[in-house]
Amino acid sequence: MKTKLHFLILVLPCIAIAQLKSPSEFLGYELGTQFTRHHQVVDYYEYLAQAEPQRMNLIEYGKTNERRSLLLATISSKSNMDNLEQIRLEHLKGMKGEGAPKKAIVWLSYNVHGNESVSTEASMQTIYDLLTVKSDYLEDIVVLIDPCINPDGRDRYVNWYNQYKNSPFQVDPNSKEHREGWWSGRSNHYMFDLNRDWAWLTQVESQQRLVQFNKWLPHLHVDFHEQGVDNPYYFAPAAEPFHEVVTNFQREFQRTIGKNHAKYFDENGWFYFTKEVFDLLYPSYGDTYPTYNGGVGMTYEQGGSGQAGLGIVTAIGDTLTLKDRILHHHTTGLSTVEVASKNITRLNDEFKNFYADKGYTYKSYILNGNPDKIEALSNLLDKHDIKYNAGINTTVKGYNYKTAKTGSLKSSGNSLVIPSNQPKSTLVKVLFEPIAKLSDSVTYDITAWSLPYAYGLDAIASETTVNGVGVVQDNTDYSAIAPNSYAYLADWNSMKDAKFLAELLREKIRVRFAHKPFTLDGNAYERGTLIITKSDNKNVKDFNVILKKAAVTHKKKITATNTGFVESGKDFGSSYVDVIQNLNIAVLSGNPTSTLRFGEIWNFFEQQLNYPVSILDESYFHKVDLSKYDILILPDGRGYNSFLNKHIKQKIKDWVKAGGKLIAMAGAIDGLSSDKDYAIKEKETKKDSTINLESFEVSEREQIKSAITGAIFKATVDNTNPLAYGYSDTYFTLKLGDRSYNYLENGSAVYLSAGANEPVSGFAGSEAKKKIAETLVYGTQRMGKGQVIYMIDNPLFRGFWENGKLFFANALFMVH
Ligand SMILES: [Zn+2]
Repeated sequence: MKTKLHFLILVLPCIAIAQLKSPSEFLGYELGTQFTRHHQVVDYYEYLAQAEPQRMNLIEYGKTNERRSLLLATISSKSNMDNLEQIRLEHLKGMKGEGAPKKAIVWLSYNVHGNESVSTEASMQTIYDLLTVKSDYLEDIVVLIDPCINPDGRDRYVNWYNQYKNSPFQVDPNSKEHREGWWSGRSNHYMFDLNRDWAWLTQVESQQRLVQFNKWLPHLHVDFHEQGVDNPYYFAPAAEPFHEVVTNFQREFQRTIGKNHAKYFDENGWFYFTKEVFDLLYPSYGDTYPTYNGGVGMTYEQGGSGQAGLGIVTAIGDTLTLKDRILHHHTTGLSTVEVASKNITRLNDEFKNFYADKGYTYKSYILNGNPDKIEALSNLLDKHDIKYNAGINTTVKGYNYKTAKTGSLKSSGNSLVIPSNQPKSTLVKVLFEPIAKLSDSVTYDITAWSLPYAYGLDAIASETTVNGVGVVQDNTDYSAIAPNSYAYLADWNSMKDAKFLAELLREKIRVRFAHKPFTLDGNAYERGTLIITKSDNKNVKDFNVILKKAAVTHKKKITATNTGFVESGKDFGSSYVDVIQNLNIAVLSGNPTSTLRFGEIWNFFEQQLNYPVSILDESYFHKVDLSKYDILILPDGRGYNSFLNKHIKQKIKDWVKAGGKLIAMAGAIDGLSSDKDYAIKEKETKKDSTINLESFEVSEREQIKSAITGAIFKATVDNTNPLAYGYSDTYFTLKLGDRSYNYLENGSAVYLSAGANEPVSGFAGSEAKKKIAETLVYGTQRMGKGQVIYMIDNPLFRGFWENGKLFFANALFMVH
């Protein structure tokens, strides 16, 4: 061994000087014979950047939740790299129809889904070839490479695989190395799907990446994926429906690229398909988002994913290896850059065309409402480089989102005005227009996301330009709180208010809240108003300091009062004023639940509300003493029928009856509703008894009749129910399916009333609409000394439906 090492030490420096090391040479194993852990990937990229300082630049643009590096490599010819900033600025001038750019920008993103594990491996071979045998491509192209968008998920997969793999690897699909468990590597640390997050930016990876992305707005963007083992390769052109904003050029260029890939695949006898499954509509993907920002965004899918390992036997008896998978992604990566290198002028001209004024129907979007929600939306717009102004005092007319008809709205200095005529006009249209135009109803994802509904703001889409000026000003001095007052009052309307409350509770401040509206010192206060009294907190050292700090941090206006004697309503000592206890909260994880739906709750507690939560895994749930917890959350999922056996059901019910609060979401409700103690009951619908003798081919179209593919409905709110404190009498809910439950006696906080089963935005099939007519959205039930809260729709879906989050906070803090 020793002699061998000596030999290596002597020889290695000579090789390094002579030529750039390939991934196989650097890693010490042939690429494709092992999965490369993230730190080794980082090492290889750092090695390349050091070896090629004139043609490569590498930055760490951020860190993941688990503190792994997020990398972006920029490579081009030496002369391009010498003028990189100038090239970038010249390119961006195209947004204003100016500049004479001579280079094209190609961005390759790998491994957004962690267990689609081939991509990062392929990225190393691709960057190596671009710096060596294919360096001609770099003469007129700047290539940006993100070797791994989701390092936490990918390492989760790679470490898991290494622990379970046979040696040598076993191609039998039944062997453990091909059966990833519930906690798969697909998503990020918080189980979010990063390929659903480009527009909403709820996750640290997306937030940090988009800063870089907006600096470049590439001509071409490729998102490398994997699908099931038995699928052949998929590449552009994408499938219908396309969003109507996708230009003819963008459609046509996808074809050009696809044809170039096909040439290589045909030569090698590899199978592939195009124009199917992967559509271009939902704006939060790695293909649509770049497309709505002027590029040609594409998804490439290799067959493989977390099931494939280093090698696996496919359904038809062939063996698919990691080496094969690398070869295919490597081929399409290089082919993409090749096509770009032959179309420099075209790409630059079309980038300019994309950003020319498109004359979209709606010229301005005007939004009114709760200042916290206006602020939350403004923060999102900043991240997307979308410009906006404050309104002026006037009346604006146009499409009224609330009524879905023509109407008007009074704008003021507190309104938000978003002009359509701005560089990001297409993105504005996609995110704001009330109804996205579908070229087809069969789609891969949700069909509605319009931001005024998601943020709970009143809005008008105006066909004439509405002027705005400056930005919404906030001159409030949040630290101006009179010390030693009898009590302090804070309103309860938004997620920001919930964060404020969570901070006080963390600091051991006792907080009360009002179950009835009241007036005091001439001011009117609504249900849910927070009441923080001096006497409740007389033992808290630094009470005034803590309160002031929380107010400043959350920009929360606090009103001091010197009496608890209200002018109308209930006094602070009344039983209609409840104390919010410091709560022990638990959430179920594991097989009964969906990883994504569980992750949304986990993320909500740790990254949004900032309140501790215990995670109880199903594997030992039966042994856990539930009396330690005040609240138990059962996330949506499909595995409840087997999980909720007689013993577990009884255990949960006994705990509720003794005073526990159960929050059951979607699939969890399905698992409980057959039990007579739970008041929730499935709505009976007449089954269509006529047999449709449709041909086999139209069956997909038939199925769509019973589907709701993420559509927005106008629900009625009973805001006297604590679950709905802080809301007005209507709420726009994002429905993800046709799950339908009857109203609850006394407990229907949010529901679809008669005639509200027509979506205001998005697609719902005719059968599905019948099914959801007059059904519950959110409700509460008293059971013994405890409470059950039912959430049929998911207010935390992908973390972006801002206006739904207060329902969840109410479930935690207000429902007693
Ligand atoms: Zn994927």
